[in-house]
Amino acid sequence: MASNEFDRRKFIKHSLIGGAGALMASSLVAGEKDPRPDPEKDERPIIKRTLGKTGIELPVVSFGVMRADSPALIKAAITEGLVHFDTAHGYQNGKNEEMLGNIFKDQRRDSFVISTKVKPADVGKNGELGPGSTKKAFLETLDISLQRLKMEYVDILYVHDNSARSGVLYPEMLEAVTAAKKAGKARHVGVSTHRNEPEVIQAAIDSGVYEVVLTSINFKQGHVAEVRKAIAAAAKAGLGIIAMKTMAGGFHDKERTKPINCKAALKFVLSDENITTSIPGITNFDHLAMNASVNRDLVLTKEEQSDLALLDTLEGGLYCQGCRQCVPNCSKALPIPDLMRAYMYTYGYRDTHQAHALLTSLALEEHPCAGCAVCTATCAKNFSVSERISDVMRVAQIPAEFLS
Ligand code: SF4
Ligand code: SF4
Repeated sequence: MASNEFDRRKFIKHSLIGGAGALMASSLVAGEKDPRPDPEKDERPIIKRTLGKTGIELPVVSFGVMRADSPALIKAAITEGLVHFDTAHGYQNGKNEEMLGNIFKDQRRDSFVISTKVKPADVGKNGELGPGSTKKAFLETLDISLQRLKMEYVDILYVHDNSARSGVLYPEMLEAVTAAKKAGKARHVGVSTHRNEPEVIQAAIDSGVYEVVLTSINFKQGHVAEVRKAIAAAAKAGLGIIAMKTMAGGFHDKERTKPINCKAALKFVLSDENITTSIPGITNFDHLAMNASVNRDLVLTKEEQSDLALLDTLEGGLYCQGCRQCVPNCSKALPIPDLMRAYMYTYGYRDTHQAHALLTSLALEEHPCAGCAVCTATCAKNFSVSERISDVMRVAQIPAEFLS
């Protein structure tokens, strides 16, 4: 076992016992009767935290709207006490923002918190931004999002999908979000990141502009201790932290025979009080009930701790941690982390639409690995990289109108 993997498992074990585990009532550890009320009649208060210096107070569980397409589900979430809804310009070709706009247009504007994300127009393989990433293009895209949302402003505007310090500090983006705030189109601004999170978070702190970081974090990340360290520094600097990808793909395997205990995974992340809230993807009423229950109970049960410990021992999984260890050894320097994310969208989320959009944005040839006799891109998580690439690239060939 590689030393960083050993360190991660030590960290997970320590977190389960000393972190979230410490939240657990000692009577539960001793096997006595569970003193917690029946969740059906749960009248305990919703646990809330403050989003850094923005001052926004949020329940610890929010709603990741990316894959949701049911207005009834959103309305039920409001009834459950969820107030923060996270979307993006690119989700469902804009239908995601439109759905939220239609739901919230008659609600009092201060009764909900909306975030959306705009991706810079010109992003290189290593997360560097090119000359096409202009302030003008960014602000025009934001205006389209606001029209869809039927809102004059969003509460949080993210520059989406950062993976490099240079991208976070790119002057045109800093100017764009500053202008959006000045024009009253965004109350607060932030960055989102799926990989290289510690570097991105530090850059957000150093920018002096960003107020919120939306970061991947979960129990399967080999570098979860480093992510938490960066989060602690950001929280100390007054930034608000929101967690995503907490479910590590939702399933461990492509066939979906090994589901992740999503409730346990969510509690694991939220055991860190520097994290204000999380945006798990919610697509049905069962998901909603499960996630909403965490809003009143962050205590990891013994069963949940066991589930996480067991999942942690399994090799592989669907979640690519974006460590890029494979990239230097790929003879064609393919964007493997993005391809693996598309694979997770396809099999973990069953969101072929999002996978298709990501694959299309990569502009690769139909068979990227063609002509490569042996795959030298060894994965830190032992993924069969070339097999997954061949598999997921089939999604890119499907006409978009046939996708779910
Ligand atoms: S087979 Fe492996 S090394 Fe070759 S292009 Fe594909 S991912 Fe890269
Ligand atoms: S495919 Fe494996 S090595 Fe490459 S970025 Fe993902 S987890 Fe890391």
